[in-house]
Amino acid sequence: MPTYTPPLRDMQFVMHELLNVVDELKMLPAHADIDADTINAVLEEGGKFCAEVIAPLNLSGDAEGCKLDKTTHEVTPPKGFKEAYKQYVEGGWPALSCDPAYGGQGLPVLVNQGMYEMMNSANQAWTMYPGLSHGAYEALHAHGTPEQKSTYLTKLTSGEWTGTMCLTEPHCGTDLGLLRTKAEPQADGTYKITGAKIFISAGEHDLAENIVHLVLARLPDAPAGSKGISLFIVPKFLVNADGTLGARNGIFCAGLEHKMGIHANSTCQMVLEGAIGTMVGEPNKGLAAMFVMMNAARLGVGNQSLGLTEVAYQNAVTYAKDRIQMRALSGPKAPDKAADPIIVHPDVRKMLLTARAYAEGGRALSTYVALQLDKALSSDDEDERKECEAEVALLTPIIKAFLTDNGWIATSHCMQVFGGHGFIHEWGMEQFVRDARINMIYEGTNTIQSLDLLGRKVLGNNGATLKKFGKKIASFVEEEGTSEAMQEFINPLADLGDKVTKLTTEIGMKAFQNPDEVGAAAVDYLRVVGHLCFAYFFARSAKIALEKQGSGDPFYTAKLHTARFYFAKLLPETASLIRTARAGLQPLMAMDEALF
Ligand SMILES: Cc1cc2nc3c(=O)[nH]c(=O)nc-3n(C[C@H](O)[C@H](O)[C@H](O)COP(=O)(O)OP(=O)(O)OC[C@H]3O[C@@H](n4cnc5c(N)ncnc54)[C@H](O)[C@@H]3O)c2cc1C
Repeated sequence: MPTYTPPLRDMQFVMHELLNVVDELKMLPAHADIDADTINAVLEEGGKFCAEVIAPLNLSGDAEGCKLDKTTHEVTPPKGFKEAYKQYVEGGWPALSCDPAYGGQGLPVLVNQGMYEMMNSANQAWTMYPGLSHGAYEALHAHGTPEQKSTYLTKLTSGEWTGTMCLTEPHCGTDLGLLRTKAEPQADGTYKITGAKIFISAGEHDLAENIVHLVLARLPDAPAGSKGISLFIVPKFLVNADGTLGARNGIFCAGLEHKMGIHANSTCQMVLEGAIGTMVGEPNKGLAAMFVMMNAARLGVGNQSLGLTEVAYQNAVTYAKDRIQMRALSGPKAPDKAADPIIVHPDVRKMLLTARAYAEGGRALSTYVALQLDKALSSDDEDERKECEAEVALLTPIIKAFLTDNGWIATSHCMQVFGGHGFIHEWGMEQFVRDARINMIYEGTNTIQSLDLLGRKVLGNNGATLKKFGKKIASFVEEEGTSEAMQEFINPLADLGDKVTKLTTEIGMKAFQNPDEVGAAAVDYLRVVGHLCFAYFFARSAKIALEKQGSGDPFYTAKLHTARFYFAKLLPETASLIRTARAGLQPLMAMDEALF
């Protein structure tokens, strides 16, 4: 069975040495009293919950899966899930970064982000039950009426109720403008909602006493397409005026999907039969309100793969030090043994270091974005709020797609380190690969993320936000440009920055001629910009590691080696990605559809 040790040292490095989060957070009125000890203590305690309570349920949960009783429509998640959730609620974990006005602890988003990384490492499928609740909380916090907030937010904050996100229908996933679920206005101001939703994560379960479904549907007179979609709260049990639970609402689980991974999370086909709901936000503007939840979920999905990358890496390292096979080509390294441990072989090291670099780079980028999110939410300076919001919007598709593509590569490499044993269930490695695969698909496929990045977030504002982020990189390059020791990091970083600028302009020009050029280049483009972000954070990490070399702490030596590996072995991928992005549309569209 896999084991998991929370990576507290690297989390602390990223927060306190790389990003100096305490100094930044103290500038925000909501976090003026925050200190490093509080952040560290919360994550240490949270790490214990993850390692001791939910990690041991990961393998068994995958084997057992969820069960649906077709007569009652009740879903039972695997053994131990309900008890673990009770402990999670009793520990106050759902409330970490929620608003104190609704019973939250008011801690920064980045603390919650760290907690979720560890939860995802320990058990992604379990984590999706509370994970979607937090997204629902955020959407209602931003767009709910005072009455909706007082009815639902306290319960979502405490974790007594969980949330879901009901968008997808059998005929529409990416293109939500096609959705058909109907909402009929009632005399009392509520709506009767009828339709079918599929693939609804945590759509039904017995972990919490009520489930708050956020449902997209159409009013009878709604315009066609995405401008005619409204958002509704549809609780599993209706809520009485005094907050107690009332009648069972007409929203049921009609079937569970049989799927490749995350077996322990209930992926439900939901039927709405005149279910009673209340509208969130304005009529026909539901997609905008839902985007609060979708953006939170996109960052959350990137975090899922970060968690899987870390746990897969840890287990692969342990195995590679223990498993003996063959001798090093340069001669025995463990002459006392019948063969050398496989960690002596260069390619095994390449697989391990790839996963390690993707975990460390992903953690730095995600924590940075979480800090920008804290500023966007809590700064008292409107300009700063807007700037941070724009940067989070720019980096969100990168977190979602780059981290999940990397997670797929990393978990697959780590499984490979185990040889044939990696393919066998008991070791847990094949589960990490299966679980990681969905992260590239849901919450908008990675292709859709790349179109969002290149089309909307970059070309959509003539590269203004990208340029602002680029300026941060350029000023670091300038600061360190004369440092001899930093040349190996600064030169390739500066070079890639220039290339991204040129590539962006080139695609922008081509897109004027034919907008499909964006679709032809977007996936490669996102990966190039993802590498630019990682290179920036690895270069900054290397600077700190070089300064602390004399401290005798092996952490800094390892950080420096990982940064060097990243620049030497992973970053060069950008050269071929830029070539394929530049190859453009023609090779893709030249072949007549009939010839496929
Ligand atoms: C396990 C699981 C859990 C899920 N959980 C939820 C949930 O909780 N709530 C919810 O509402 N949904 C959920 N989903 C649905 C998920 O978000 C969708 O499956 C996903 O967004 C893709 O939609 P689709 O399956 O309809 O694929 P389609 O939209 O049919 O896409 C098919 C392919 O076409 C590509 N494509 C589509 N449009 C374009 C374009 N313009 N340019 C280029 N390529 C394009 C896509 O990238 C994809 O490769 C879940 C799905 C799964 C499998």
